[in-house]
Amino acid sequence: MKIHEYQAKKLFKDYGISVPESVLCDNKPDIQSCIEKIGVPCVIKAQVHSGARGKSGGVKVAKTLEEALKYANQILGMTLVSSQAGEKVVNKILIEQAVNIEKEIYMSLVFDRSKEGISYILASQGGMEIEELAKTNPEKIISSLIGEEFNPEVNKLGFSYEISEQIENILKKLYKMFVERDLTLAEINPLAITKEGRVIALDAKVNVDDNALFRQSEISEMRDITEENPLETKAHEYNLNYIKLDGTIGCMVNGAGLAMATMDIIKQAGKSAANFLDVGGGASSEKIAKAFEILLSDKEVKGIFINIFGGILRCDFLAEGITEAMKTQSVDMPVIVRLEGTNKVIGAEILNKSGLKFKVVNSLSEAIEVLRGL
Ligand code: GDP
Ligand code: MN
Repeated sequence: MKIHEYQAKKLFKDYGISVPESVLCDNKPDIQSCIEKIGVPCVIKAQVHSGARGKSGGVKVAKTLEEALKYANQILGMTLVSSQAGEKVVNKILIEQAVNIEKEIYMSLVFDRSKEGISYILASQGGMEIEELAKTNPEKIISSLIGEEFNPEVNKLGFSYEISEQIENILKKLYKMFVERDLTLAEINPLAITKEGRVIALDAKVNVDDNALFRQSEISEMRDITEENPLETKAHEYNLNYIKLDGTIGCMVNGAGLAMATMDIIKQAGKSAANFLDVGGGASSEKIAKAFEILLSDKEVKGIFINIFGGILRCDFLAEGITEAMKTQSVDMPVIVRLEGTNKVIGAEILNKSGLKFKVVNSLSEAIEVLRGL
């Protein structure tokens, strides 16, 4: 789960990582009083789940009160279009004290599955061009897996002793937070070194492990569903494992392994999956009807492939669920069904007798043929 910058900065503060003074504003009548609380110069920042806000007009530095009012009114309510997250409406802005930046550096911690641990990443050239630096001068980026003795090699960045010590302290605090709060990503870009010689986090990006939310109640409450894909939110409500993808074939499967195999089959037919959807082992016909509704409401979907291996989930339950869902919705796309396992004959009968248009296939190779023709 992602959280907003202002929420991440709250966590930073709790762990003793310095951040600028700020106030959050979510409505236009409050803008002026919020700016007056912070004073000028200040920075107006769109609070949306996206990076690269600076490049899309979502971060502006204001020197005077007039400028601050103008930028705040522009940014609050705007539709931010970024390279990272597409279109996002800005419902909240952070008004933050500006600092005198001497240098912007980069710091992050990531949960690195391939190395089976947490890695830290540091670069003396941070800011908005960090991706560019990674492409052109990867040797300038310091990265290392955190071992038992955590001695970050901050001195490699080439700063004075006083600055290096502050950077190292921040990295250690960030690491403590990362572990205690079950994070998968904690990024500070830029981490600013000020003209006065302080090191302060100007941006904060934090992702939390969804599977740990049950024991992270404070973070769990930071969830902002307006930032999430509405279909994923709906699926979450019904306990369905659903992830939106960018293909055109909606698929419904029981079991993650079967879901992966099904996506391969769709690829073999020259198409790609519009989603990953695992209805799970003991799904009721009601849950299946909900899953089917989600597939139908995805505008990218041009055809649906239901591939079920009936074990705990009986094929007749599944058949009832989808016929029920199809009766209440207008379905104007092909629905291909492959049933195998418990009660597959009864399931196929329910589908065939429903008077609705299903294409029941008997094998995966037949499914590939039909999918190819879509
Ligand atoms: P992002 O583009 O979404 O990553 O947003 P950031 O929070 O990183 O802001 C983008 C840029 O705005 C930073 O790289 C800074 O150059 C600038 N910025 C942010 N805060 C301040 C500030 O307090 N003072 C000044 N002068 N610039 C700032
Ligand atoms: Mn940033």
